[in-house]
Amino acid sequence: MAYQVLARKWRPHNFPEMVGQTHVLRALINALSNNRLHHAYLFTGTRGVGKTTVARILAKSLNCEKEITAYPCGQCAACREIDEGRFVDLIEVDAASRTKVEDTRDLLDNVQYAPTRGRYKIYLIDEVHMLSNHSFNALLKTLEEPPPHVKFLLATTDPQKLPPTILSRCLQFNLKRIPLEQIIQHLTKIAEEEGISYESQALRLLAQAADGSLRDALSLLDQAIAYGAGNLSNDDVSRMLGTLDQNVVLELIKILAAKDAPGVLQQIALISEQNPDFVTILGDILSLLQQIAIAQIVSTTIDTHQQNSEAILQLAQQLSPEDVQLFYQIALLGRRDLPLAPEPRGGFEMLMLRMLAFRPNNEQQPSPTQVIPTASSPAMTAYASPPSVNVPFKPATSPALTNTNNAQNEWGNIVHSLGLPGTIKQLALNCELKKHEGDTWHLTLSPEKKFLLTEDRTQKIEELLQKQLGGPQNVRIRVEHPESETPAIEQQRIAETRQQYIVKAVDKDPFILYLKEKCGALINNVTVLE
Ligand SMILES: [Zn+2]
Repeated sequence: MAYQVLARKWRPHNFPEMVGQTHVLRALINALSNNRLHHAYLFTGTRGVGKTTVARILAKSLNCEKEITAYPCGQCAACREIDEGRFVDLIEVDAASRTKVEDTRDLLDNVQYAPTRGRYKIYLIDEVHMLSNHSFNALLKTLEEPPPHVKFLLATTDPQKLPPTILSRCLQFNLKRIPLEQIIQHLTKIAEEEGISYESQALRLLAQAADGSLRDALSLLDQAIAYGAGNLSNDDVSRMLGTLDQNVVLELIKILAAKDAPGVLQQIALISEQNPDFVTILGDILSLLQQIAIAQIVSTTIDTHQQNSEAILQLAQQLSPEDVQLFYQIALLGRRDLPLAPEPRGGFEMLMLRMLAFRPNNEQQPSPTQVIPTASSPAMTAYASPPSVNVPFKPATSPALTNTNNAQNEWGNIVHSLGLPGTIKQLALNCELKKHEGDTWHLTLSPEKKFLLTEDRTQKIEELLQKQLGGPQNVRIRVEHPESETPAIEQQRIAETRQQYIVKAVDKDPFILYLKEKCGALINNVTVLE
């Protein structure tokens, strides 16, 4: 007997046999059971998720010789002929190949005639969005006054392209992509029933490559069976799909977990020998990180028969949830940005090193020159939004920077405690405290800052001083050059000194030196995260 492709052989013949789409099936089963039938149904969703399969089963439900039922018998002539694609009252049109108005007209010309054999004449129009405007008009006319013996089952991957006049006349069902685990289960069931020997990991790779489409999964399974001469091994399937052995990717994550930057580069060199597609590798990394994140929450969800399950559980313990999230975020954005890199390997190396550079330090005693974000979230924000790369850095020791002038110190502290609004606070901070006598504060403001000075603002400072200290408070501000450092100047000096100190420390940092020398990294900006 000739080999029958799996997608055809395993095409579901009734609703219970379908994989996924339970939300759609439940609605259809209820409608059929209660005989609440609409004259036009629209099934939307990406390719290979079951749109035309649902439509064909619905056609059987409507035309099964026994009765209108959610569970067609599969035995009667109508059921069998629909299964075999030769039922005279099921008119299937692939609009992608029939866009001329004449075709649709021909088709719809016969609408008014009663069905030849069945209860209903059913038009199944696939990729209905491909119809021309004229065809849409012809279809619309029929939909506006549908003869009672006609049902329209429309399917499309792109409902956006349908005119609203058509959409509004259809009962719409959105089919979802099939979840990975359901595809794996289905492939496993088929492999077992077909008596094909398989490695679980091979089926997982096929399911991942199918990306939510069951039809693609079955067609890949067909190809893999041919490729491996009836045997589904991890190696063969990896080779066929052009994906890397998962162990190689897992090894890379282990090295990242060990914070071994030179090791990361070595592993990438090893991977490069296989001429891989780095975007696909990022997909593999994302998938593994997701499994690790889930294992951190519920370790029992990891299928222990799955290859790598032990390593995944181990990494789940070794990495913090923040690390996993950060790696995931960087890999996800990397998948988008990698095509922009001058060459893929270099771009991939930078991505992996970025994971280390931005990794929050979870250890107790950071060394003074180590690059450490003070918390994971600012580091992630810095990574996710920068036009330039900010290296978050927090010095463990900073030089003594505080103002030695007690009067100005006192004034600075008072100003900060008053909770003054914006410009009023600026005015106060730019003043030098000359003398505090009884209830009067004698302040001086440099001529360059005179623009800050207004009667209202001075009054506001007085009010808040009264509130804070009690009793009457008077503020006298004279415009003249201050003799000592005002709180504003002190703040600026501290910020500048700290920045210089940090820039020097970053320049000397061994890891930064490594990134500059080995990867050509440039430090654009050093930000101090408070
Ligand atoms: Zn039947």
